[in-house]
Amino acid sequence: MIAAADPTQPAPVAPPVSPTARRGRTKEELLATVSPSRLGTWLVCRLKFFFRYVAGITKPNTAARHTGSVVHAVLQQWNLARWRRAPLVGEMVTTVFEKAWTATNEGEAIKWDDDEPEAAAKAGALALLEMYLRESPIPADERPEGVEVTVEKDLSAHGLPKLIGILDLVRAGGRIVDFKTTGKTPNAGLTLHTNDVQLSAYAMLYREATDRRETALELHQLVKLKTPKLVITESGPATEVQTTRLLRLIESYVRGVQSEDYVPAPSFACAGCEFFNECRRWK
Ligand code: SF4
Repeated sequence: MIAAADPTQPAPVAPPVSPTARRGRTKEELLATVSPSRLGTWLVCRLKFFFRYVAGITKPNTAARHTGSVVHAVLQQWNLARWRRAPLVGEMVTTVFEKAWTATNEGEAIKWDDDEPEAAAKAGALALLEMYLRESPIPADERPEGVEVTVEKDLSAHGLPKLIGILDLVRAGGRIVDFKTTGKTPNAGLTLHTNDVQLSAYAMLYREATDRRETALELHQLVKLKTPKLVITESGPATEVQTTRLLRLIESYVRGVQSEDYVPAPSFACAGCEFFNECRRWK
């Protein structure tokens, strides 16, 4: 089993994803480590990366992000409970959900959608979780190898920053799982492609932590529709090609950060970009 939280202690509700806690990072900091999420932002748009990580611009939390944080926090507790061999069932789930909804809400204004006020968003988030717990392929008595495990890999032999990351869940037998919430039904082939960096990085980190090869990579996507649904996309262990691609991308990241190559990349992703106004003023 890889390291996880102390099972004798009550597990804390995951801290809120608070944009207000962000600060700008120096070039040295950005080149000392790299995480899959930072690399992902870099690949989507370098200017967005600049606003988020270099300038440290903060934005109010959104309803979608809040829902994602709460779902993530409850699933973390659900996984830890199985690890303790004391499964989270029935009303226990609702109690954990209520606590997570409040804890991730504390001290920050959330920009609720006009067509979905907080009460409706909360009901939708709970329905999403209930759907997952009904339909999850993970048996109630399956003990995880690890939950929310922080892992790192020294890439200095490649002249690269240290790779850091947190694995949501490692199922028995070395199946790495990442949970996501989304508003649209994903396409399987595209999902594996767009999450390739993250999955390859998790595989690399898992191998470093355990000296073993993962047996599978699973994306569990909770789709927030009128009738919520679960889409699971799975692949085998990361291939050598994926590992090489990841290292090439990190090399590109290093070159770009060193030269401060922060340019916009207008695309369909701009529709959901929180820095749209700042971007329009960029020159
Ligand atoms: S609006 Fe588009 S191009 Fe501009 S920073 Fe955001 S993602 Fe990049």
